[in-house]
Amino acid sequence: MSIRSIRARLTLWYTSLLTVTFLLLGGTAYGLLVYSLSHDMDAALNGVAEALAKQTPQRFTTFPPSNIDEVFRRFFGFSRLDRHFEMLDPFGRRDPRWSRPRPGRLPLSPKVLQNASAGLPTFETVKGMGPYPVRVLTMPVVEAGRVISLIQVGMSQKNLYITRRRFLLTMGAVFPLVLVLAGGGGWILARRALRPVDRMTEAARRISAEDLAERLQETGAGDELDRLAKTLNEMLGRLDAAFHQIRQFSADASHELQTPLTILKGELEVALRSARSPDDYQRTLKSALEEIDRIAHLVEGLLLLARADAGVLRMDRQPLDLAQIAEEVYGQGKVLADAHAVTLHLGPVEPVSIQGDPERLRRLLLNLVDNGIKYTPPGGEVTLSLERDEEWASLKVSDTGIGLSPEDLERVFQPFYRAAETRSRGEGGAGLGLCIARSIAEAHSGRIQVESSLGRGSTFTVRLPLHP
Ligand code: ADP
Repeated sequence: MSIRSIRARLTLWYTSLLTVTFLLLGGTAYGLLVYSLSHDMDAALNGVAEALAKQTPQRFTTFPPSNIDEVFRRFFGFSRLDRHFEMLDPFGRRDPRWSRPRPGRLPLSPKVLQNASAGLPTFETVKGMGPYPVRVLTMPVVEAGRVISLIQVGMSQKNLYITRRRFLLTMGAVFPLVLVLAGGGGWILARRALRPVDRMTEAARRISAEDLAERLQETGAGDELDRLAKTLNEMLGRLDAAFHQIRQFSADASHELQTPLTILKGELEVALRSARSPDDYQRTLKSALEEIDRIAHLVEGLLLLARADAGVLRMDRQPLDLAQIAEEVYGQGKVLADAHAVTLHLGPVEPVSIQGDPERLRRLLLNLVDNGIKYTPPGGEVTLSLERDEEWASLKVSDTGIGLSPEDLERVFQPFYRAAETRSRGEGGAGLGLCIARSIAEAHSGRIQVESSLGRGSTFTVRLPLHP
């Protein structure tokens, strides 16, 4: 029985508690029993002594009264041979006229005599008068304020000893039995109560990163173990989702890297197949460089996301005027907008000072403006504005473009996600831009939101805390 198992510890605790309770109860019962038996005996001795004192006022001549048996029976319920009685003069002397032969004599200690002369009764337990100690009461008989004689009555404590021994024997026999029964019962109960834990341990052992879809069995009883199973299942659900996301991310990242690499490889192979003119080589190299740029851009994006996820995204924070960044991005966006035949407006721009990394914030804003232009058909409009809103700087990029469906709205900030509309048209990039934008906003303790309706346009809002 390993003490490291909860079952063993529970049983041990339970049995120890039961032992202490049993000993306390048994001890109290034993004490009460002895006290009440002794008390009853003293009361009966007192009764007998008083009855004898009343019946024998003439003292020595009429002692013991003829109904001595009946007197003992009246107070003890029986009159055994091991009873004792004596009548003495105030100095403890026996009446010489009392000729009836008697075995042994009740002892009379100086203390008893002293008490008696003061008119006080004394109880004593005397050993050596038989197999059991004898309880003796010495009672002075007082008449007109004077002690005229002493009455001694005694009774063997045989009954007390026998009852006491029986009680102890019964307890001694019952206690181990109760202990064994309770210990065994406790062990079985603990095993039953903890069986679900064993099952959970077994099930948890089976679950690995490969089969996170498996769940622990919930009993539905609503008890602690059921709640534990529920909590573990919820945790497994979150782990499953996280693992799924990671797998999806790796698959998407590989796929996005594979496409430009395949193009690159194909172009170089074709170029190497036969001798080309310098112009052909120039074209091939230019195209290869474009693919390499795409790959580099993608890898840089992935690295940024990985660092942001790990919480180690380096930020060159400094006080800056967001209005200045908005105007710079507007300047860059204008060129892109013109190329797409889209009009880019600069809406109200308030001077707002915040603490941030200018390079990353420029990238965030350019991403949004670039998206606005990319996903707005020619002739449409994109507006960039900056407002102050209580404790926040609020950067807005709205467009009159293709918009997003409610399902897309929920997922546009996920890595590699592209709206159905964009996918079907083969437009857009790798789908990392918004995810990076969100990471940059969050690294500035800000957040990014989108409102959009399909076919009408979208508004992306970035809220960043003001510089205190
Ligand atoms: P991408 O490089 O594909 O633009 P993003 O992360 O920037 O990646 O955007 C993810 C997807 O969100 C886009 O593919 C596009 O479908 C959708 N999206 C982003 N901005 C807009 C917008 N202004 N209007 C409509 N759809 C947009």
